[in-house]
Amino acid sequence: MSWQQRLSQELQQQQEAGLWRTRLPVTPLSGGRIRAGGKEFLHFSSNDYLGLSHHPEILSAWQQGLSQWGAGAGASGHVTGHTPAHQRLEYTLAGWLGFPRAILFQSGFAANQALIFSLAQGQDRLLADKLMHASLIEAAHLSPATLRRFRHNSLSSLTQLLRTPCDGETLIVTEGVFSMDGDQAPLAGLRQQADRSGSWLVVDDAHGLGVCGHQGRGSCSQQQIRPDILVVTFGKAVGISGAAILCGAEMADYLQQKARHLIYSTAMPPAQAVAIETALSLVASGDGLRQKLQQNIARFRQLAAELPWPLAPSESAIQPLIIGDNQAAQQLAMALRQSGIWVNAIRPPTVPPGSARLRITLSAAHLPEQIRQLAEQLYAAAR
Ligand SMILES: *Cc1c(COP(=O)(O)O)cnc(C)c1O
Repeated sequence: MSWQQRLSQELQQQQEAGLWRTRLPVTPLSGGRIRAGGKEFLHFSSNDYLGLSHHPEILSAWQQGLSQWGAGAGASGHVTGHTPAHQRLEYTLAGWLGFPRAILFQSGFAANQALIFSLAQGQDRLLADKLMHASLIEAAHLSPATLRRFRHNSLSSLTQLLRTPCDGETLIVTEGVFSMDGDQAPLAGLRQQADRSGSWLVVDDAHGLGVCGHQGRGSCSQQQIRPDILVVTFGKAVGISGAAILCGAEMADYLQQKARHLIYSTAMPPAQAVAIETALSLVASGDGLRQKLQQNIARFRQLAAELPWPLAPSESAIQPLIIGDNQAAQQLAMALRQSGIWVNAIRPPTVPPGSARLRITLSAAHLPEQIRQLAEQLYAAAR
């Protein structure tokens, strides 16, 4: 079979399975709206949970950063791409989140890959939650270490895996708030298991930072534990993009020696680091935004309680409506789009087979009236 034949065959399979993926050019607007194909929609599939992506202070910080530092970093941080703006952001992050060090990455995907590839060796083992994000699982599959998955949020399942002896070291890996389900990991229990077994606990808090915990410090702050390694990303509630690994001093030095995603990749634009710094201060002082978000979550859950599909047990900004069938989920998303509501259907392999869903996300930027419209259109589509 030629390359061309292989592509055709795989594309056909994708289409027949109802898993065809597309990207449409859309224009995000402020106030929980989006424009696409000349039409405006209410936007319920963004991870911009606090509505910061259009915040004027962040935009002007980025502009000021551009004037001061230029458009790009010009090199890897190991050459000349690490500016005082990057250094300051790392320092701010470490202080704010309570770790000795922070190391910036261009994306959460890169941070997770760098973490696993630089740490895990052949005799080691990675024990990851069954629903752990693709960026980490992908790296774990490719690494020479052994990957085992424990049942979602199940401490007993993890205990069982830990009973098997291991010659190397163990990393226990979880998300703080799960990206496709919106529920939270039992971090205190995981911390205990890690301590008991002499493992390290890694928490990827992409969806917790900014949303929960004291001053929006995230899931670990909320559940009062400290992981050995914390991954945070700036593309969700922080409203920009980029990521950081928070860790001890030696681990940070180690990443600096070994993490190829760091060494062989251009550093984030310094202006972006300036913008993130400003966004983090808005996150820290954003209790009002978090309160609005919580009110929107409560409002939506109350309004959606009588829908024929189950709403996942989530207290976070991520409110999945579990449809089950791939085509049915896609059809529902399309029906909503007809009525001016933008929600994405999430299908396998992003979620387990048979659990296709509408991943509805709420934001502090949504108005009560917009949440009401969403619920109304869901009921209309159900009839
Ligand atoms: C979004 C996400 C990532 C990837 O972060 P990017 O900065 O978007 O690459 C990693 N982990 C989790 C849990 C995520 O939700």
